[in-house]
Amino acid sequence: MLDYHIHSTFSNDGEMTMEEACCQAVKLGLKEIAITDHMDIDLPENLEAYQIEDLNLYMEELVLVKDQFQNCLNVKAGIELGLQDWTLEKSVAIANDYPFDFVIASIHMVNGEDPYNRIYFNSRDKLKSYTDYYATILDVLKDYDDFNVLGHLDYLRRYSPYEYVSTDYKIGEEIIESILKLLIEKGKGLELNTAGFRHSSKQPHPHPDIIKWFKQLGGEIVAIGSDAHSIDYVGYEVDRAFDLLKYAGFNYVASFTNMQPSFVKI
Ligand SMILES: [Zn+2]
Ligand SMILES: [Zn+2]
Repeated sequence: MLDYHIHSTFSNDGEMTMEEACCQAVKLGLKEIAITDHMDIDLPENLEAYQIEDLNLYMEELVLVKDQFQNCLNVKAGIELGLQDWTLEKSVAIANDYPFDFVIASIHMVNGEDPYNRIYFNSRDKLKSYTDYYATILDVLKDYDDFNVLGHLDYLRRYSPYEYVSTDYKIGEEIIESILKLLIEKGKGLELNTAGFRHSSKQPHPHPDIIKWFKQLGGEIVAIGSDAHSIDYVGYEVDRAFDLLKYAGFNYVASFTNMQPSFVKI
């Protein structure tokens, strides 16, 4: 049992310390977790900052919890890098200047707008809200290699005001296919993010059929993460995610050390 997407108080929306996250993981019987706090650099000034203030302190704290829990939990040093096309150089530096085990590449912004804010959808119908988001992912990932998995592929679905229907995962499928192929070509993976289960669609990010598609195209690397910001969601629905991974044709889940994947049988 692992959980590769956990936020601590180093994220400004995180509600648990690293130690509290680890204690909860142990309590739940998880074997391995990655702490992956937000690092969204150069966000527009009108948006709240989502970034680790002091990366040295962050790494020091990670070493402390790694040590503290070494007998009962494998703690990985991770980060969730929020990418925009003009911040890639700085993101490369962050990913390389610190000894991370695991880096999630996430796209939270489309041309300076976050789908988290309703305004993103004001100027876009359902189709355009998805395709603009996917096109941004594709654009950014073409120029960026310093990561392990793409986070929450259809992140915008969490906040979409449009009614969810079960075929929504097919919206923008040409762009999705290009994203999946690009990840495979670069030797990168996809995240199966269980936070989607607690939003109205009741589906993980991305939809299980997209994970299946990734496998069919030759994808090998999938990490499972809860995107927990509080102890209530550590390990949230990860057992269900393992079942979905099997449904998608995977017999293993990815684990990471020093940015290198290894595979754990499920
Ligand atoms: Zn995210
Ligand atoms: Zn996150």
